[in-house]
Amino acid sequence: MESQDFADVLKAVRSFVRDQVIPREEEIEETDAIPEPVRQTAREMGLFGYALPEQYGGLGLSVGEEVRLVFEIGYASPAFRSMFGTSNGIAGQVLVNAGTEEQKDAWLPRLASGEVVGAFALTEAEAGSDPSTLTTSAVRDGDDYVIDGAKRFITNAPEADVFMVFARTGAPGSRGISTFLVEKGADGLTIGPPDEKMGQRGAHTAEVFFDGVRVPARNMVGTEGTGFRTAMASLAHGRISISAVCVGLAQRILDETVAYAKERSQGGNTIGEYQLVQGLIADSQAELYAGRSMVLEAARAYDAGEDTKLGPSCTKYFCSEMVGRVADRAVQVFGGMGYMRGVSVERFYRDARLFRIYEGTSQIQQLVIARTLLR
Ligand SMILES: Cc1cc2nc3c(=O)[nH]c(=O)nc-3n(C[C@H](O)[C@H](O)[C@H](O)COP(=O)(O)OP(=O)(O)OC[C@H]3O[C@@H](n4cnc5c(N)ncnc54)[C@H](O)[C@@H]3O)c2cc1C
Repeated sequence: MESQDFADVLKAVRSFVRDQVIPREEEIEETDAIPEPVRQTAREMGLFGYALPEQYGGLGLSVGEEVRLVFEIGYASPAFRSMFGTSNGIAGQVLVNAGTEEQKDAWLPRLASGEVVGAFALTEAEAGSDPSTLTTSAVRDGDDYVIDGAKRFITNAPEADVFMVFARTGAPGSRGISTFLVEKGADGLTIGPPDEKMGQRGAHTAEVFFDGVRVPARNMVGTEGTGFRTAMASLAHGRISISAVCVGLAQRILDETVAYAKERSQGGNTIGEYQLVQGLIADSQAELYAGRSMVLEAARAYDAGEDTKLGPSCTKYFCSEMVGRVADRAVQVFGGMGYMRGVSVERFYRDARLFRIYEGTSQIQQLVIARTLLR
């Protein structure tokens, strides 16, 4: 995107987030839903397709641009970003990287406009950190495949129109997995009730059940046996984006922490005048600075085709742990208030916990990093 156009997008999104989303965060928490006007404005601004190619109606941002946009988006409740994060990210990128022209034409423009919502269905009860052991099966039957199995913790499942489903078409292991497009409403497809989560209210996950779901063979994304590779490519990009969300959220939490430290008094001084409180603030700022620098460098190297593995894992590992520490220090600076419902840092503390778990836990990032170096 032209640099002036991109600067305009950043400015508009920044104002939208601060003026229209942040004031409604408590409502999102209470109702467990994104208000319709917020969803509508996000659609009009192109936020459902910022990372999708321009030729399919997206904004076509590079990863370097995407992370700068996501720094702004991540400044609000993570549920806001989650509303369109999967369509741009792990689900949408499956089609971008592996879809046929027909599949891209059919789905990407509608995903980019927010008319439809996508979901990425990889995790199963017995296949989480190691999805190569997944058992959901897709068996060829004439011109169709018949899918049986169950997925869990699938973001957007309750509202998704299209699922990128990873299912076993061949031998055990990562080479026997293929990807399928499954539309909402398909016979035999059922969605469980929304999960009761620790945080990130307003973003929903659920189980997805496949009971003899029949899809035409043309719904296979990529070729047979390439599903694992497709999933990993989407996740690598996703890890940089999640890192940018962590940076945006850490900035927000730190801003709230500093504002509170300047305003709250004890013993005749504002608490920000106490050096032990300054230490908490300084540690958060230093780590946030490191995280932002890592994200920008990982995005640059990804765009340049230099590194699609080590950078995303290092960044996701560091930034997700970093925002957890920043949130923890924020609760400490807020004292008893930080432990009370209705106070933003209490909510962010719960929201932030997820980032160390999904799209590869911290331990899985450690394994990816170490194995890459040792290979
Ligand atoms: C809110 C939410 C949204 C999600 N959204 C999606 C989604 O949209 N699509 C999707 O497919 N999935 C989604 N997930 C699933 C998520 O990616 C998995 O929960 C995650 O990868 C961990 O898998 P698991 O829960 O089975 O934990 P497990 O794999 O059982 O891990 C349990 C613990 O063991 C550790 N562990 C596991 N294997 C190893 C190992 N080899 N070495 C060292 N430690 C190990 C883990 O790090 C963890 O600490 C979501 C999860 C949540 C909570």
